[in-house]
Formats: sequence, C-alpha cells, structure tokens
Amino acid sequence: MTATAESRDFQAETKALLRLITHSLYEDSEIFLRELISNASDALDRLQFESLTNSDLLEGNSRFEIWLEIDRAARTLTISDSGVGMSREDVIANIGTIARSGTGELRQLLDDKGSAAQAAELIGRFGVGFYSVFMVADKVKLRTRRAGGSVGTEWESDGDGAYSIRECDKADRGTSITLHLKSPDPDNGVRDFTDPWRIAAIVRKHSDFITYPIILKSEQEPAENAKETAADEKPINSMKPLWKRSASEVKPDEYAEFYRHISNDMAEPLRTIHFRAEGTFEYDALLFIPSKAPYDLYYSGAKRGLRLFAKRVMIMENCEDLLPHYLRFLQGVVDAADLPLNISRQRLQQDHIARMRKRLTTKVLDLLTEIFGKDHDQYLTVWKEFGRAIKEGVSSDHDNKDRLIPLLLFASSHDPERLTSLKDYVSRIKPEQDRIFYLTGESRAMIENSPHLEALREKGYEVLYMVEPVDELVLQHLVEFEDKKLKSVGKGALTLGTEQEKLEAQKELETKQEEFKPLTEFLQKTLAEHIKQVRLSGRLTASPVCLVVEDHEFSPMLERVLHRGQGAAKMKRVLEINPKHDLISRMHTRFAANPEDPFLQKAATVLLGLALLSEGSELSDPVRFNRAAADILCQAM
Ligand code: ADP
Ligand code: MG
Repeated sequence: MTATAESRDFQAETKALLRLITHSLYEDSEIFLRELISNASDALDRLQFESLTNSDLLEGNSRFEIWLEIDRAARTLTISDSGVGMSREDVIANIGTIARSGTGELRQLLDDKGSAAQAAELIGRFGVGFYSVFMVADKVKLRTRRAGGSVGTEWESDGDGAYSIRECDKADRGTSITLHLKSPDPDNGVRDFTDPWRIAAIVRKHSDFITYPIILKSEQEPAENAKETAADEKPINSMKPLWKRSASEVKPDEYAEFYRHISNDMAEPLRTIHFRAEGTFEYDALLFIPSKAPYDLYYSGAKRGLRLFAKRVMIMENCEDLLPHYLRFLQGVVDAADLPLNISRQRLQQDHIARMRKRLTTKVLDLLTEIFGKDHDQYLTVWKEFGRAIKEGVSSDHDNKDRLIPLLLFASSHDPERLTSLKDYVSRIKPEQDRIFYLTGESRAMIENSPHLEALREKGYEVLYMVEPVDELVLQHLVEFEDKKLKSVGKGALTLGTEQEKLEAQKELETKQEEFKPLTEFLQKTLAEHIKQVRLSGRLTASPVCLVVEDHEFSPMLERVLHRGQGAAKMKRVLEINPKHDLISRMHTRFAANPEDPFLQKAATVLLGLALLSEGSELSDPVRFNRAAADILCQAM
C-alpha cells in the first residue's frame, strides 16, 4: 500500500496534557505498561463479546493474547494484542482526542498548575491512560486493524503536539504499539524498560489478574535454554480472575490494582465487597466503593454500571441494571455462572439480573451501615463524596428507604462543626418536643439568619439545615422518624412548647388577632398583589415579619429549583407579623389614629421587603421598595 502519511495536530487539551507528561518526572513511570495492558485487555474483552454474535470477526484465529516484545538493540518495547483493533476513525477519535465530558474541567486543571502528581491523577481521572507512554518513550508507533476490517492504520507521534496517520498493511487483527524508549535515567525515575526481568516484574505487580495470557518475548540472555525460546510461551501473569479467588487469599494491593484497571481511578478504593453467591443461581461479585466521587457522577450522560461477565467472558461493560441508579458510584464486576452469553432482554435473564441486583444492593447497604456504625471518619468521607447519591436513594428506592434514612446526615443548629444523623437528633430532643424541625434554604448562612428560627432558638429546639436541592426530594419521602413527624419551620402555623404552652400561645394569638385586625386587613389589602394572607406569628420573637407557606405547599427553595430559568408566576405566600415587635405595635397605633395616613402605605412596602430580604430572597419590586425606604428615612431624619 502506498498511502501517504497525513499529519494532524492533537486537540488543544491533549497537547497541554502531553506537554505536562513529557516534561514531568515520575517516580512511577512504570505504570505506562499497566495502562497499555489494560487497554489491550479491554480490546480483547470487546472482541470476545462482539464475536459471540459475529464469529467472522475472529478471522479463523481465536487466540486472545497479549505479547510484549523487547528489542534491546533498538531500545524498543512492543505491546501487541489480538483484540478488536481500531479503524482509522477510531484511532483519530480515541488516540488524538480526549472526547469526554469534562474536557473543560481538564483544561482548567491544566491551566492551574501542572505538578507531576497532578499529571498522574489527570491520566487516571480523564481516562487518558494511553498518553502515559510519553513518560518513557520519545517516539510511539501504533499499528492497528479493526477485526473484520481490510486495511490497517499506522499512527506515529513523538508527543510534541502532532501525529501522523496513514494506511498500512496489517495481517493480524488487533493493535500493536511500539515504544522507542528514552535512555534510562534512574535518578529521574526512567528505568531500563528493555530489561525482561523488570518487565516481567511490573506485569506481575500491576497486571497479574488480567484474564488473557501476557507473553513476554525477548531475545534471551545467552542462556543455556536458548533453543527453547520459541516454545517457551508461558504467560507471565497467573490469569486467574481476581473475583474467582476466595476473598481471604487476595491481598489489598491486588484489589487496588484490579480496581485501577476497571475504574481508571489512580487512588485506592475506600472499601471492597467480595463474595460468592451460591445455590441455584451462582455468581461472583467484586465491588468497590471509591475513595473519591468521579467528577462526572452527577452528569446524566456519563457511562455507569458494573462489568457483567458470564463464565469469565465479559458480556457487558456498563451494566446499569445490576445496581439501582443511586448506587452508580460503585465500581466492580459480577460474573454469573448461568447467564447465557448472548444476553438479550429476555424475561428469564431479567429475572436473573433482578435477583442479583437485589442481593448486591443489600450487600452495599450492609457495608454502608457497617461503616456508619464502626468508622465515623470513614463514613464522613463516604458522605462527603456520595451523600447526594444516597439521598437520591431515599426517594427512588422504596424497598430500602428504611435502611437509607438512618444513613442520612444533616447540618444542624446543634453543632455548627458537625453533621448529625436523625437518630442523634432524636437523642437530644426536648421532652415535650414532638417533632423534628428543619428548614430548607439555599445556604447554611441564609438558614441560620432566617427569622423563622427565632422562637425555636429561644426554646432550645434543634433545627436541621437542609441546603441541597435534593433535600426537598428526600423530604417528600421522609415524613417521620422514630414516631416524630418532620416539620418545616418555614411552613404552616407554628406554636411551640408543651401542650399547655401551645394552648396558651394559641389563645393569646387569637386575642391579639382580634386587636390587630384593622392593621392586618389593611396590610392584606395593600399587599394583595404579592401575598395571599396576613396573620400574626407564633414563630417570631426578634424580627417584625417573615413569609411562610402552608404545610402542603412548595418551599421557596423547591419553587426556585422547579422554576429555574422559566419566569413562572411565583406562588403567593403568607406574611406573618410579630405583634410583640415595636415596629408592628407602633404601626398598629398609627393606623388607629389615622387609617388614611400615606406613610402607612410606604411602611407596608418596606415591611414586605424586609421579609423577603431576611430570608435571602430578591425584592419583588426594588424600585418601589427603594423609594418607600428613602421617604421613610427622610421623614425620620
Ligand atoms: P481508556 O482506556 O480509559 O478509554 P486510554 O487513553 O487508555 O483511555 O485509551 C483511549 C481509547 O483508545 C480506549 O478507550 C480505546 O477505545 C482505544 N484503545 C487504546 N488502546 C487500544 C487497544 N490496544 N486496542 C483497541 N483500542 C484501544
Ligand atoms: Mg486505558
């Protein structure tokens, strides 16, 4: 074939990343090999899966292998696989570009500061393992042919911003990557990667669990067994899938390496779940709770799910049905003994999946509960990283709702430094207190300054602060806990204390209601455009006014979430006034003296403004508020 090479630039982000990689020094540059083997293994998985329904792809060769070939004289290391390979378009899309959501974030991180440690993290986080080859090589040539395809593609780059690509002949399907290795520089972490012992050791250390044979070919040391080399194709990895081994014999390091292989996360997993389900339907499961949430956990487009195997053959890379959506932060594999290889949407299989899902979910919740009970610090990490997802579960997983609720943590008025569980809240509850109080709002500061809390603070009642939009969703499904109903302090009428105190407060309010009737009616009429009712407040002690909604209505926060971006008409709320406040009682007196006093109109406008501002809302009519406030001040001067 005589195709000429085309030279292309890397995408801007790739260039920046490559610059970082080629100009940094690494302690652990040997991980390049793990990344390439991991990719080869993925490519073999994919071919194995695709060939289940299209055996032509095998081209009569059903060897699924990975070869490492060392040429000491040329200082090259070649990693080849008989996997699915890539078409020209695949190469351009996968090797020249970082085609992921989050590229913007990557650019940001690259701009910030590029330390070597960061580079290693970036390589993992953004799934750009391939580029790690430029830590050890100054030139890389990749030759690949898609299984079933007719022409091969050759890609070559020295990692400095551009690559060349051309057609080539390639007899065997799959991919072959030749690294022209940098000169060894042990002081700077670049070892001699043409040393077969070193290569074998690295494979055993990082890639032992790979289920395909990894075969090392090198021109042998002048050893006596030279004549045996051709026959000596023993894999250097043990090939035993980690999940098939018994949990007691797997070392933490091995779990960590395997976790890296499936997750692309360079960090250690936080916890591991490894078990074998026996009985009529057998499977092995190996799941990990990561120590950090992936950056795209809450992007709806991101691919999630466990790897599903049937008798060691991967049949689905992202099986979303094995765990409920809210547990999408778990990584892992499930290998079922009795699942047909060509999994379709047949009912029987769906039953199988549903059964596994139920058991896996229970296992995950068992572990979360165990962490919650035994290791508070670790649970705080879990909560910080995945709390929002766990909250989703309360509203979406009806069967397990009661297991999830005790795992919830909230900020509260009890201790500004610590989160509290509902159980802890209840343990501190006042003897006469029959409800769990909470307030939703956009931030902790906003809630803390809210006038709605005044009376509760005075009574010493604890209030949970709910500052995340997802909390509103949780509250739809969290009606009570240990026989105590949850009650928003921003909703409905509120009287507090013992039954006796409540009755008295109620009576007093009713008397005052009568007394303040003329003023409330006036305010109601004046502010009718903005509010639906004016009433005396049982929840205010220091502030003159606040706005509340009725028990069954949406909170302002929920309304903001639901109507974000669409100028939907705002629901009218109730204006509560505090008869004990000087401002209100003076207004009352002034109104009694002269109901026509034009000053009162302005005061009403300012009152409504104060109510909105105190809860952190925007003024409904800033111009009018401004003018009224200025006039009043002017008069007061
Ligand atoms: P990741 O493996 O996380 O996707 P990499 O940078 O390691 O990121 O690889 C990028 C992509 O290049 C892979 O997703 C795959 O599509 C393709 N690729 C890399 N190596 C191979 C290979 N040996 N065979 C087939 N495709 C490959
Ligand atoms: Mg990879």
